[in-house]
Order: sequence, then C-alpha cells, then structure tokens
Amino acid sequence: MNSANGRGSGHGERAERAGERGAWGDGTRVVHSAPAAPGQPFLAGPVFASAYHLGGEDTYGRAHNPTWRALEAALGELDGGTAVLFPSGMAAVSTLLRVVLAPGDTVVLPADGYFLTRNLVAEMPVTVLEAPTAGPYPSFEGVRLVLLESPSNPGLDVCDIAALAEAAHAAGALVAVDNTTATPIGQQPLLLGADVVVSSDTKAVAGHSDVLLGHVSTADPDLVERLRSARTTGGAIPGPFEAWLVHRGLGTLDLRLTRQAENAAALYEVLKGHPAVANLRWPGSPADPAHEVAVRQMRRFGGVLTFELADADAVAAFLGRSRLVYASTSFGGLHTSLDRRAQWGDPVPEGLVRLSAGCEDTADLVADVLGSL
Ligand SMILES: *Cc1c(COP(=O)(O)O)cnc(C)c1O
Repeated sequence: MNSANGRGSGHGERAERAGERGAWGDGTRVVHSAPAAPGQPFLAGPVFASAYHLGGEDTYGRAHNPTWRALEAALGELDGGTAVLFPSGMAAVSTLLRVVLAPGDTVVLPADGYFLTRNLVAEMPVTVLEAPTAGPYPSFEGVRLVLLESPSNPGLDVCDIAALAEAAHAAGALVAVDNTTATPIGQQPLLLGADVVVSSDTKAVAGHSDVLLGHVSTADPDLVERLRSARTTGGAIPGPFEAWLVHRGLGTLDLRLTRQAENAAALYEVLKGHPAVANLRWPGSPADPAHEVAVRQMRRFGGVLTFELADADAVAAFLGRSRLVYASTSFGGLHTSLDRRAQWGDPVPEGLVRLSAGCEDTADLVADVLGSL
C-alpha cells in the first residue's frame, strides 16, 4: 500500500482531490498536504530503509524513499511543479548549478543575495555577472542561468520576477529563483514565469530551528530527472527523519507565517520612528521601497525585517538586554532571532541586523524589543 506517501487512492479520487486542493486556502493545503487513507496515521512516520524487498517501486535508499516522496508531493503542489528534496538549501543550490551549468557558461547573480551561493559560483569555471536585486540588470544575451533571489537575504530587496523571466527567456536563459525568504505559500515563482525554484526549507518551512533540508522545484520533467539522477549518483541524500520533521512542520506554516507577519508589522510600526534605528526594511509595509513590486508578486510578507543599529556594540547591548530575542544566524523559526550579518562577512554595515519575528505574543515581543533598544 502506498497510502503512506499520499498515493494510496485511486485515479478518479486523486483527480477529484486535485481539483478541490486548488480551491483550498493556504492553511487547509498545508494541513492536508499528505492525504491519509482510513486506518492510516494522518502523517505516516518516517521510513528508514537502505535496501527494500524488491518488487515495488523502491529499490535502494539512496534512490528511493517514500518519506521523501510524501514531502516532495506536498512541496511540489505548493510550488506548482515537481519538487526534488536535498539534505540542505546549499545542497539544492549546488546540485542545480552542477546540473545546468557547463564550464564557460555565464551566470547572473544578485550582488546582495545569499553569500554562500555567491561564494560557490565564484569557485566554478563560469563567468559571473552580479546585479543588485532591485536592478539594474545586465543584458541577458549569452547568459545560461539567471539566478534571482527575492526578497533577498539579508537586504530584503525585491525584483520583478515576471519581467526578468520574460527578458531572460527572450535571450534563451534559464531562470531560477531562491524562494527561501518568501516560502512556497508566500510566493510562487514558477507561476510568475521562472523555470526553477530553489529553497532552504531549514528556515520557515521547517520552522522549528531543529533540522536542515532544501528542495528544487520545476515543471520541466527532463530537469527533474537530471536532478534526481544527480542526487542518486552524487550520494548526498536527505535523511528520512529530517524529511519527516519538515513535513510535520509544514502543517503549521500558514499559522506560523501569519503570526510572524503580525509581529513584523507591529515591530515595523514601533521601529520606524525610533531614534536608534536606521534603514528599516520590510516589504510588507506600503512605506517600503520594495512594496509596490512585492505586493504584485507575493502572496504574504512573512516575519523578516532588516535594519541598522549604530554599530556592533549597539547590537551586542541590545541582545544583552533582550529576554525574547535570541542571537541566531538562521531565520523563520518559532523564536524571534536576530543576526548581525557583518560578523559573517556579508558586505553590509557593521550594525545591520536581520530580525526574524517569531511566534511570541505581539505585545510581549514589542515590549521586549522597545525595552532593549
Ligand atoms: C539559508 C539559505 C540558504 C542555504 O540553506 P541551508 O539549508 O542553510 O543550506 C540558501 N539561500 C538562502 C536565501 C538562505 O537563506
């Protein structure tokens, strides 16, 4: 029986369900992201197997795992494509680059995007053209891959994915979007015209700061095959327990993002006029320079804000006083966290921080942040 991976029902029933699913809201879709057959648990437990008793579709654990498939079905449905899981966001990014790039190719990258992606591409035998996320972008003539990131991490700038995808396609380039900050229910780059989505599900998708995972989604069946095959032969595969934890977390993604965005909106209001705070960014605010583009292509804005305090000492003093804000270099978790990006070598001011609003009560969080500034 394949009910454990959401494929137990017959064809007709599946099609009917697919129709229903399209009409559902985000909360319903993530809660019901793994349809359970009668007699089965709501979310099947992780399947640990290196070798299977041959005869079904699964042969060997490096190539096949039903716990991966259940989460891939859920993420693919949310992204509007087919998802392939990887053991981390960087494993997703690096496998995509390895599969689509050849020596001598030209890649366009955000100058203000995730630093490890830029470091990785810098080590490859390719030509790199960097552009700020908000533009201007170079000509895409002769470019093999345009890798966008919107909103960018950590600056939270936004690019017009549909317009850039159109220009890149006109020049024959492939378009990928790092959708980590937005999440699959915050933005659907494939529906905006991108060819590929990459995501670090370590962040808000898993949401509990206890697991790393990533995925690539695309509607191109040939690319799906090449990604799966690169995973099987490359051998860096996700752990079934990690995949299961992420699937468990996915069920509350809508609830968590809703609270995080409420907290971010409340923090934005009190931080925007605060004398200790400069260059506050949150694309959810109509006052933000990225809002106009963001509102056209994003379905929700999430809980990540960026701003500047005076310097590194001011950030340390803030963290020393706060009881609710943890220093942490990740984001999207239950706990409010703050990261001073210059400490990791991002080319940003010393006092620039990314604050990831968690799921605490809004009044408690606002009081703690104001009291700590
Ligand atoms: C964290 C992150 C990654 C890398 O993901 P890991 O799961 O840490 O490997 C890639 N892109 C962005 C935008 C990220 O925030």
